[in-house]
Amino acid sequence: MHPLDAAKRDSYCDQRTLLSLIKLSLDSVSKLIEVDGTQFTLMKHFNYISGELCAEQVPLTEIATKYGTPSFVYSRAALEENYKAYEKSLAGCKSQICFAVKANSNIGVLNVLARLGAGFDIVSGGELNRVIRAGGQPSNVIFSGLGKTAQEIRYALDLQIKCFNVESPAELDRIDKIAGEMDVIAPVSLRINPDIDAGTHPYISTGLRDNKFGIESQKAYEIYKSASALRNINLIGVDCHIGSQITSIAPFLDSIDLMLEIVDNLTESGVNISHLDIGGGLGVRYGSESIPSPEELLNAVMQRFVDRDLTLIVEPGRSIAANAGIFLTRVEYLKFGTEKNFAVVDGAMNDLIRPALYGAWQKIVSVALKSPTPSRSTRFDVVGPICESSDFLGKDRDLMIDEGDLLAVMSAGAYGFVMSSNYNTRPRSPEVLVDDTEVYLVRKREDIDTLLQLEDLPSF
Ligand SMILES: *Cc1c(COP(=O)(O)O)cnc(C)c1O
Repeated sequence: MHPLDAAKRDSYCDQRTLLSLIKLSLDSVSKLIEVDGTQFTLMKHFNYISGELCAEQVPLTEIATKYGTPSFVYSRAALEENYKAYEKSLAGCKSQICFAVKANSNIGVLNVLARLGAGFDIVSGGELNRVIRAGGQPSNVIFSGLGKTAQEIRYALDLQIKCFNVESPAELDRIDKIAGEMDVIAPVSLRINPDIDAGTHPYISTGLRDNKFGIESQKAYEIYKSASALRNINLIGVDCHIGSQITSIAPFLDSIDLMLEIVDNLTESGVNISHLDIGGGLGVRYGSESIPSPEELLNAVMQRFVDRDLTLIVEPGRSIAANAGIFLTRVEYLKFGTEKNFAVVDGAMNDLIRPALYGAWQKIVSVALKSPTPSRSTRFDVVGPICESSDFLGKDRDLMIDEGDLLAVMSAGAYGFVMSSNYNTRPRSPEVLVDDTEVYLVRKREDIDTLLQLEDLPSF
């Protein structure tokens, strides 16, 4: 394919391909990638403009100069587009999109989605608090998670959330008791564990019988029946969430079929269910994976809803946020060895733990393209300064870099900052939200004082 056609067709640029483009005087062309012969689309709103990687219209070098590195940078347009892909596909179907807050819980990000009318899927009282601060409606909030405390349940009942996704009979009893004390009725859905292998990494698969999540489907009917006798519980839904980074539609359909069977059994015995919640889990492209689009998934899913008076709830996290953000880091040192070369950067596993935790692969690119000198790219492991061998952001990456250069780790908008820690007493990164040419600091960089403010010397 002619590079220009590839440029029109695909997303952002890799250095080698770009160099050939520059040679073709196509400096402003910003849409293509060819990595190891594979063409793929990753992040529509992070493109090279005049040789510099930008978030929408803002060069990342400007953000690095103003807010320092490491830092997370999100694109409002990308968040909106990814959300709207769900919304558009669901048009004409009674539905609710509940963004999974745990994927990216920055209140600035949540605010972007709340403005679009998003609902939210939460897993803690803290996340509920974030949703409120971000301008979200409690009436559109689903409370998931298997360890809800009494305090969290009270808080959620007080705010009159849409539904509790309940994961055990013990939790059901607790919610009933608390709702009774508060003299309210708790809207409840049971999370079914369908014992389906979603084909993902073991750490992010959740729908297998030996996972801690949900209620075994064989027991679900009985538990629903006994729950229908609880005075302060209103059974309104059936729920399921089978894993994350799922790359095919089949496991979703299998779990829906199982849930519909439960719905039908319940209808027969007089328990009317008004919604089906299929959870989140749709994968994204980090590299050259082929992943169904939300549209493809939902078209298939909605077939199952024809002639049924059920509201469809979806809880996407990663597929909305991952490719709406990057992690920006600067090269501190280049270290050359006999076996390996290392690019030691100022970002680390405490900032972005997916590579260390799951062996996840995320694309790493130079922010500024070098002038078209003969290629001198070198193979590096991109590593952080933390004292752990698992502290890497990428391995065996061909990069054309010098000390002081900026790198962008792509697809870092989900399960990035939210999983960060202060390991090695590293202050956490700032988060920046870009909207066209405007830049908003939606979380400041931590400093050592804020980090230590809760610690005390013993009084002896
Ligand atoms: C994590 C989670 C989600 C979101 O999963 P993604 O893979 O990010 O889409 C949705 N629902 C529940 C219950 C979750 O735990």
